[in-house]
Amino acid sequence: MSKPKIATASLAGCFGCHMSLLDIDERILQLVELIEFDKSPINDLKKFRGRCAIGLIEGGCANEENVHVLQEFRKHCDILISVGECAVMGGIPAMRNMVPLKECLEEAFLKGPTVHNPQQRIPDDPDIPLLLDRVYPCHEVVKIDYHLPGCPPSADCIWQALLVLLNGKNAELPYELIKYD
Ligand code: SF4
Repeated sequence: MSKPKIATASLAGCFGCHMSLLDIDERILQLVELIEFDKSPINDLKKFRGRCAIGLIEGGCANEENVHVLQEFRKHCDILISVGECAVMGGIPAMRNMVPLKECLEEAFLKGPTVHNPQQRIPDDPDIPLLLDRVYPCHEVVKIDYHLPGCPPSADCIWQALLVLLNGKNAELPYELIKYD
């Protein structure tokens, strides 16, 4: 019988939540007995190879590519989980939501104290994904089934969530496992 698949993605995040997943240490051997990784930065697979039981999303949506990736995950995954504050609430990238996008770009590329930009041009190459007007938490873009808060959620929290979901149960985790900072 084929193993259930898990896919993971980092949108507007710092990879800290992926590091927390890898922090399950030797249990990673147990995990690969139970599941197969599909599209993920862990195996560098760029495309989905089939339907996935679980998708783990780190980071919120800051640009159009993030939205596209998130929609692809929703399409391919039975259960989609926002992992960490950035996915759940927008996190640190969402601090820019207090400032209009035009002002953010001007500060970053034109007016900032360390900016050297003689052409006074804000990058607009078509290959660069367009920034959204603000950073959106994942559940404002697609339906999200579970949230694992924390920056990052602990390895134990991610491990327990995966175990219960792979066993077909609801992810009701002990309070002690959940972090809110
Ligand atoms: S929640 Fe924290 S660890 Fe996770 S991607 Fe955001 S900043 Fe990084």
